[in-house]
Amino acid sequence: MEITEVRVALRQSLGRSGTGEHRLRAYATVTFDHCFVVRNIKIIDGTHGLFVAMPSRKPKAACARCAFKNDAGGRFCTQCGTAMPQVGRPEGPGAEVAEGHRDIAHPITADFRQVLQQKILEAYEAERAKERLASSAVDDTA
Ligand SMILES: [Zn+2]
Repeated sequence: MEITEVRVALRQSLGRSGTGEHRLRAYATVTFDHCFVVRNIKIIDGTHGLFVAMPSRKPKAACARCAFKNDAGGRFCTQCGTAMPQVGRPEGPGAEVAEGHRDIAHPITADFRQVLQQKILEAYEAERAKERLASSAVDDTA
């Protein structure tokens, strides 16, 4: 499988934003073999440098009353206001909710993960270089 395109959208708040241990730097969209696209890949500035996080979904918890799928962890159903069972104590059906984010699409071999991550980070660096050029050009005219 070949990575045929990587598009990177930098997040605007590139400065020191927040004190969170994980800082989202950019989103990437990757095309494979000209025919399959994965969006919502994240480039994160973690404690050990940049890394790529595959798209994931937040665990959902269905409301017992109206069946609305809320983000897990909320205290009340956002649809009907019924109190939601609290996560953190896995029990019975729905215990999987406590496991955290689940990748939607991801490489299954270490080799391909490496290739993919490298391609994405290269595209990210290229995009940042472009942005630095653009912003220094603006500075010059100011
Ligand atoms: Zn509800």
